Amino acid sequence: MLPKSVEEVQAVLAVANQHGIPLWTVSTGRNLGYGGAAPRVNGAIVLDMQRMNRILEVDEEHGYALVEPGVRFLDLYGYLREHRLKLWMSAPSLGWGSVVGNALERGIGYTPYGDHAAQICGLEVVLATGDVVRTGMGALPGANTWQIYKGGYGPSLDGLFLQSNFGIVTKLGLWLMPQPGGLTSCVAHFQRESDLEAAIDVLASLRRREIIQSNAQMGNVVREVAHRYSRSRWYDGPDAMPDEVIEKIRQDLGIGWWWTLRFGLYGDEELLDARFRIVQRAFSSIPGAEITGHKHLASGSDGLYACEVEGPAGRLAGVPGLFALNALRFRGDDCGHLDFSPIVASSGREAVRVYEFVKAQAREHGIDYLAGFTASERHLTHVFPILYEKRDAEQTSNAAALLDTLITELGKQGIGEYRAHLAFMDLIGDQYSFNKHALRRLNETLKDALDPNGILSPGKQGIWPAASRRQRAGTR
Ligand code: ADP
Repeated sequence: MLPKSVEEVQAVLAVANQHGIPLWTVSTGRNLGYGGAAPRVNGAIVLDMQRMNRILEVDEEHGYALVEPGVRFLDLYGYLREHRLKLWMSAPSLGWGSVVGNALERGIGYTPYGDHAAQICGLEVVLATGDVVRTGMGALPGANTWQIYKGGYGPSLDGLFLQSNFGIVTKLGLWLMPQPGGLTSCVAHFQRESDLEAAIDVLASLRRREIIQSNAQMGNVVREVAHRYSRSRWYDGPDAMPDEVIEKIRQDLGIGWWWTLRFGLYGDEELLDARFRIVQRAFSSIPGAEITGHKHLASGSDGLYACEVEGPAGRLAGVPGLFALNALRFRGDDCGHLDFSPIVASSGREAVRVYEFVKAQAREHGIDYLAGFTASERHLTHVFPILYEKRDAEQTSNAAALLDTLITELGKQGIGEYRAHLAFMDLIGDQYSFNKHALRRLNETLKDALDPNGILSPGKQGIWPAASRRQRAGTR
């Protein structure tokens, strides 16, 4: 179902309510590694919002955009360039999806505005009943502050519609970053596997103090290699690549390090230089650490960037790209891919705890460990794309079993996912169980009140409508 307007969304809802037909809302339905556009229940109709794709407003002075769900990162980027606006957006590793879908799923990018959910300011939502709500200042007729002040009057409701099945978002306000005077794209290398702890400790402090202002990404050597080469060049075994093979790859490619850290520094040139010196000094406490920075300054009479920041550094400037897709050729021509992304407190000790556990489990399940940690101010998102050869039934089931084990076992230790693949939404929902599942009970109360016929994305994030809950209880 491809509605073109709010009125068409309302018309679809009327029919779905009348006949009890479940709808599964997506913006463009990419959501790679988390289940794509697939619904959770048979017989659901995908409500695909890609034809509602207008960029309704971009305000250069105040730094925001108001967009519809079908607007892709590529579209917004093209618009900013075409109109020569001094604003930067932030894009996730894969820049092909929608701005709205990604922000609602709490996706991340790599500029200082890389916490996409945190940039949301004002939503328009069609509720299951067909009622259209504008949150925050959007409820005040004539206000020009809908995309400027998040609060509005009364409870803050934007969060209710993130990773949720309480409504259909038809407009979303997003803050955009005033173009900085410059960007230094930095790469740091750490030689030994055991440098992880010290490197994360230094990084965590630099992030908390906002010397490094954006999500920084640390990856192991397997991850780096996987984005550039196919593993068959070195190894064809059905198990995970043994350490000797990884060592051989390092020798062949002349790689002297184990960990690579990528991040950007932002601001006027004086700030870039000062930040780089502080970062250099901080990492010099780790023997053998090397750091390089490449400065890009706004140039030209209008102060705009003369050309895009190219290559993997592009995403530090919010340029949408598809570089991350390369990894899907690492273990076969067209790998399947499941994402494991738990939230870890930002400290070296915690990173090592998770790293060692995941490494052992990955090896046991015959899966290569592409380890990554994205460092925010206070937490790390552990990012592990579980790659498997789709045509190999055993590898496919090993991949799913690995993800199940990681979620289950780390969950017992209080380490939980920030986002979930469709097939694991209930498992993870079960883990957030404080006070006899008080959170789930509250979500169910909201679900029943807002969507009495239970037609919107049943099962999303483990939240089921009343009728399915009864049915599920009966089958247990
Ligand atoms: P992508 O941007 O990768 O194409 P999707 O469109 O697949 O992302 O959206 C990811 C998830 O976000 C969907 O599965 C859905 O749960 C939620 N979502 C996306 N768009 C909307 C929307 N307009 N309203 C409510 N939820 C949405």
